[in-house]
Amino acid sequence: MKRLYFLAIILLSCACATTSGGYRTGYGSSDYIYIGDFCKRHNLQYDFDTLDDVVKIFSKEKDIRLILNSNIAYFNGSTISLPDSPKYVNGKLFVPSGLERKIFAQEPVLYKSIFTIHTVVVDPGHGGNDPGAISCRGMKEKDLNLKIAKYLKEELEARGFKVILTRDRDVFISLQGRVNVAKRNKADIFVSIHGNSNRSKNMKGAEVYYLSPNRFNSQERALKLTKEENFCPGRINPDAEAILWDLLLTKNYSLSVELSHSLYFSFKNMGFYVKPPKRAPFYVLRLAYVPSVLVETGYLSNKYEEKWLRKDSYQRQIAEAISLAVVSMNRQYNSFAAKSDKSKN
Ligand SMILES: [Zn+2]
Repeated sequence: MKRLYFLAIILLSCACATTSGGYRTGYGSSDYIYIGDFCKRHNLQYDFDTLDDVVKIFSKEKDIRLILNSNIAYFNGSTISLPDSPKYVNGKLFVPSGLERKIFAQEPVLYKSIFTIHTVVVDPGHGGNDPGAISCRGMKEKDLNLKIAKYLKEELEARGFKVILTRDRDVFISLQGRVNVAKRNKADIFVSIHGNSNRSKNMKGAEVYYLSPNRFNSQERALKLTKEENFCPGRINPDAEAILWDLLLTKNYSLSVELSHSLYFSFKNMGFYVKPPKRAPFYVLRLAYVPSVLVETGYLSNKYEEKWLRKDSYQRQIAEAISLAVVSMNRQYNSFAAKSDKSKN
């Protein structure tokens, strides 16, 4: 609150003139609109959280989040950049009129949708001096993971995706190293491939995990990330940037959940025994900062299942199930994008 108070004082000294609906700043060329008028005009509601400087503007179809004094905003799941940042003056909130053009006008919204999957990073678990689980017949999980990952790469490439493997041979890669591959290649999704093992030899079936965010420290994590990554250098306060990161992480979380369900149904449809998706605090999932899932393809400790897992044809079927899940998720997004394009015209 203290921060907001100081901000209001600074802004007050900058403001030249205020009218009932518009607000012209003394330091920029763009006009501003009082948020109440903006919302009335477009039949929207708003909610302003003074603690974290986040302005929520919403309706059934629209979800807009603005951050005070930040040019970066969030619109229906994507980040957009605004010509000016929202201001708080005289106890009133003003949004840049450029926001209208971005959200409602014919002008195309310039943002990179985080919904479309172009690049998939496939991560065969373990490798090198880390064999992972070892079956009673001596099959190493690291080798199985790599084979399935390579088949998956083929399957996905055949369907037009760009695929990068975190390793394409038997080498050790640290968890951070795997995460870095996803970051470097701007992965849209991250799929880690593993094999399972249990003392109980009867355990069987595929399992899918999605990342588990910790709501209590996600803010803290986001703040740390802001500092480390220099997400948006410049004027906005790091807390507000952290909020944006937090939103992106939350978005990644929901996409990870969706992807895990898509995988579950794909495995099920192909006749695999598969358990419902579960959340897991795997490091590799938490630090990738892209929608991430971990697939346990089957139990190496189960004699019967291990026999299947050794077969090339079975490994290919697993790869196919995963690739169909990615296709189905992408199709959902594309139809969503097509719908919103139509509604713009
Ligand atoms: Zn493993």
